[in-house]
Amino acid sequence: RIKVTDLVKTYGNNEVLKGVDLNVNNNEVVVIIGPSGSGKSTLLRTLNKLEAPTSGSIVVDGVDIADKSVDINKVRENIGMVFQHFNLFNNLSVGDNITLAPLQLGKKDKSAAVQQAQKLLETVGLADKIDQPVNSLSGGQKQRVAIARALAMEPDIMLFDEPTSALDPEMVGDVLQVMKNLASQGMTMIVVTHEMGFAKEVADRVVFVDEGKVQEQGTPEQIFNQPKNARLRDFLNKVL
Ligand code: ATP
Ligand code: MG
Repeated sequence: RIKVTDLVKTYGNNEVLKGVDLNVNNNEVVVIIGPSGSGKSTLLRTLNKLEAPTSGSIVVDGVDIADKSVDINKVRENIGMVFQHFNLFNNLSVGDNITLAPLQLGKKDKSAAVQQAQKLLETVGLADKIDQPVNSLSGGQKQRVAIARALAMEPDIMLFDEPTSALDPEMVGDVLQVMKNLASQGMTMIVVTHEMGFAKEVADRVVFVDEGKVQEQGTPEQIFNQPKNARLRDFLNKVL
């Protein structure tokens, strides 16, 4: 499904990704953990072509998206992304946020797009919010709108970059529940998170990134109960 090989990303002379290898299978939920500054966000952003890799390859369904000639919009139609700070258009309604991309890209006409938005809002528990301005919502509601917006493009891979880190604690559960539902429907997901409970419960595989490399990966059981890498053990001691 996704095959990342020897991915390197440098900013100036700061080598942030130092040769990342990562495979993600169809319907798999991969949770990425690791210390601050280790390159987790940079890795996700290169997968969605928000950053151009310095070298290496990222093959998604047979196409190397690291190749500069690949159409960014086609890549993003297939790979949805959800950010820590929602990145919604605060001056638009909930519905307009969700229908914007499908309408702009001509994927749907207005009535079909609105109908789809309503359906997606029902699946994220916000059935009555379609006409509300985004800036009237709570953080947890905003993040669920952001998930609905990403799903409106009907992606078959979803990337989540710390989707609950900016939320008040009582909001976290609702967002994680929406993600769990997506996972159980077979969505292929890569999730950067500090929610170790989610990783244990939902991840098929946990990947520990440190210093710009995948240092260890395995099932939640292997990673949390039998960590081998000394840095991983150190990291787990701090977060668990
Ligand atoms: P966190 O857990 O704090 O979100 P992270 O693992 O997501 O950390 P990244 O955001 O990928 O880490 O950042 C890794 C390194 O890359 C950091 O040293 C950061 O300063 C640097 N970096 C990230 N984006 C840029 C950029 N656009 N320009 C220059 N340096 C950057
Ligand atoms: Mg980050």
